[in-house]
Amino acid sequence: MNMPFEAVVFRPLPRPLKPFPQETEASFLARLATANAMPVQRLQRPSHWLESRLDPVGRLSVISGQPRTAIRYAIPRWERQAWNIPQGPFAATARWACRRCVARRTGTPGQGVMVWMSKHHDQVCIPHRLWIGRAVEAPANQFDLADLPEIVAAQKRHYRLLRRYGPDVINVCYEQTSRFWTTLLQHGYRISDLTQRLARLQPGDSPTKAPSAPPPSRGSSISSA
Ligand SMILES: [Zn+2]
Repeated sequence: MNMPFEAVVFRPLPRPLKPFPQETEASFLARLATANAMPVQRLQRPSHWLESRLDPVGRLSVISGQPRTAIRYAIPRWERQAWNIPQGPFAATARWACRRCVARRTGTPGQGVMVWMSKHHDQVCIPHRLWIGRAVEAPANQFDLADLPEIVAAQKRHYRLLRRYGPDVINVCYEQTSRFWTTLLQHGYRISDLTQRLARLQPGDSPTKAPSAPPPSRGSSISSA
C-alpha cells in the first residue's frame, strides 16, 4: 500500500527548553533561538519549499522538545485562561516576568522572559515582593518591595477581592477608582507618603529605578499640594 509522502520539516533542536508559565510566543521563540544559537526565522520556517502539516502547537512542541500539553498550558495564545485574555479594555499585556521567578525556574538570573499579565490586576510578585507591574522597562528595574509591605499587602487584598467578586465587578471598580485618583491628582492633590515611600525603596539584587507613579494603596492619605 502506498503511504502519502509527508516531509519532516520540524525536528527537535539540540537544546530543549521549557516554556515559562504565561510566556508570550515571541519570548519563547527568542529564548529557544538564543539557546540554540540560530535566528528565530529559521525556527519558524526551517524549509523554504517543504510544508509541514503540524499546527503551531505541534511545531513548537517538536522543536522545543516539550510535550504538546506543556506548550498549550504555558502559552496563553493557545490556552486562553478565563479573564486573563488579551482582549477588551482590561486587556492582558506582555510584561517582564519577575526576575526572581525566572532565576529560580530557569537557573539563569539574567534571562529576560516576557509573560502575559493582566494590565490592572497583576502588579506585584507576592512571593518575591517585587514590583513587576506598570512602568517596569526591564527586569533590573523591578522594584524590591521588602521595605514596603503595605504594597505587597495591597496586591494580596486585590487578589482576594478579585476571587470574591469576580473580574466583572472588580474591573469596573478599578476603572472608577483610577478615574477618581487621576482627578484628585489633576486638581493638585498629592499622595502625602509618596516621597517617604520612594525613600524607603531599597535596591534589590540588581540596580533598580523607581516606577514613575506607584498606585496608591488603601492606606495612603492625600494632601493638597
Ligand atoms: Zn517572583
